Amino acid sequence: MTDSIKSFDQLKLSSQIQKSLDRMGFLAPTPVQAQTIPLMVDGYDVIAKAPTGSGKTFAFGIPIVEGLDYSIADIQAVIVCPTRELCIQIASELRELAAFCPKVHIATLYGGQPIAKQFKSLKRQPQIVVATPGRLLDHIGRGTVWLGNVYTAVLDEADEMLKMGFISDVRKILNTTPADTQMVMFSATISREVMDIAWQYQRNTVEVKISSEGENRPKIAQFSLVSSGNRRHQDMLNIIEQLDLHRVIVFCNMKSTVRHVSNRLIKSGCSVQGLHGDIPQRRRNHIMNGFRNGSFNVLVATDVAARGIDVEDVDAVFNYDIPDENEYYLHRIGRTGRAKQRGLSFTFVTENDTFRMRDIKKYTHSQITEIEYNEQGRLVLKSGTLLSEAVNNNIFD
Ligand code: ADP
Ligand code: MG
Repeated sequence: MTDSIKSFDQLKLSSQIQKSLDRMGFLAPTPVQAQTIPLMVDGYDVIAKAPTGSGKTFAFGIPIVEGLDYSIADIQAVIVCPTRELCIQIASELRELAAFCPKVHIATLYGGQPIAKQFKSLKRQPQIVVATPGRLLDHIGRGTVWLGNVYTAVLDEADEMLKMGFISDVRKILNTTPADTQMVMFSATISREVMDIAWQYQRNTVEVKISSEGENRPKIAQFSLVSSGNRRHQDMLNIIEQLDLHRVIVFCNMKSTVRHVSNRLIKSGCSVQGLHGDIPQRRRNHIMNGFRNGSFNVLVATDVAARGIDVEDVDAVFNYDIPDENEYYLHRIGRTGRAKQRGLSFTFVTENDTFRMRDIKKYTHSQITEIEYNEQGRLVLKSGTLLSEAVNNNIFD
């Protein structure tokens, strides 16, 4: 089987596609993309089970756009999905992906839109069609769509679509594609109907399974320390030193705090970069690459700027401020523990934050251990055990 990939570089993408991924700020493929793209490029049929939000659109979008043959005037890829909204969304993401590929035409065909308008977009000879089953079948019946030269057929949200009663429409559509069409199915669950279609239309199939968040979660030992104001700087430095941390991310709630914290850490001799929404995307990508390559050790960031960050060996995440949203807490600490399946998080709290912390613990089902200083200035658990010993012995597993 094909090895899965870690970076977009490994895919040897065209410069146009790479450029649009850069522009969107996507630094690394999501797991479903990492597994699916090489399989699709190698021509396999794929059945992928992955939860919502896992990046399925580009998992099929990238290989489809990259595989287009501009010397062919026929439809080369068809994406069938259950709703009009999804059609529009998929098409708009694919257009963004193909923003620097001027020859790519994408048509959306769904019910509720005047069919004449769709005739017009079909006259532009789209290579890619995104459609709902009923309207697509309508076009096939009228002869305005011909799928006889389709190379890839995708069923997105297959379980939803088949559950909605589209199974016979989907069969009729697939029956008009060549027998050797690459068939790719994406589904949150593998239902009986999904299996039926797979058995009937897939041959050279590879299964891809992406577990939802929660399953397979890395072990992240989470701590809190009562600290506030500028004292947090020294506390961060102490933790970094006592645990010998090499790569950390510090989360702040505001851009101004990012600037302040970065400056102070720089003055303390740390190698630091700040990341927030006012920094242009190109510069942000550059900073992220630097962090990944190890050209500096401390990244200070806001939640927004940290979207999509995927750096493997982050030793620890600091919550300089308690996040405003419970969900952010999970997103933040999820930046650590990726490579070694083990990570650390430290949240600074004030007496006033007790209520917020309780809420976070409840919402995230987290166990958060309080730490403090002993008389020698070493960080310890309430039991007196040295933090460094506790961490090295993995007593939180
Ligand atoms: P799904 O179809 O699995 O629900 P989508 O394909 O709609 O997920 O993607 C979910 C979100 O993640 C979208 O906002 C998309 O732009 C974003 N996204 C996709 N791929 C990446 C990536 N490699 N890095 C960061 N964000 C991504
Ligand atoms: Mg989707």
